[in-house]
Amino acid sequence: MDCIFCKIVSGEVPSRKVYETAHTLVFMDVAGDVDGHLLAVPKKHCKNILDCDETSLRDLMLAVKEVSNHLVGHCGYDGVNLLNASGESAGQSVPHFHIHIIPRKTGDGVNAWPNFAGAKLPIDEVWKKIRI
Ligand code: AMP
Repeated sequence: MDCIFCKIVSGEVPSRKVYETAHTLVFMDVAGDVDGHLLAVPKKHCKNILDCDETSLRDLMLAVKEVSNHLVGHCGYDGVNLLNASGESAGQSVPHFHIHIIPRKTGDGVNAWPNFAGAKLPIDEVWKKIRI
């Protein structure tokens, strides 16, 4: 499969690795948009959270926590934003599951939270549709 993140996992494409477990790789995002922008990916290919197997997902989230604690505990950051797009409709551009880890410092001015335009439907109408 021609997947850039699979190639990074296999080492075919180089990356700046930050942390690795049996099922997860965390490496620097090359976007150059925010200092310390990281991506955490499952080593086994899946497209996004919708098709990710349970072992990969558990390991991925534990790795995200480990790295987040490292950033705040040892690297001078105060918090993190965790971002994910699952599906093209959500803005996913690379079709291999990834969680963006954005390290944050108080007053850093980074705008990592979307400015939503406002809900279009009454909240109870949506609640009845989506509750499990
Ligand atoms: P998304 O739009 O959520 O699918 O994010 C995809 C991310 O992958 C973007 O932030 C890209 O900068 C990043 N990206 C794409 N190719 C590479 C690469 N070879 N190494 C590191 N990051 C990459």
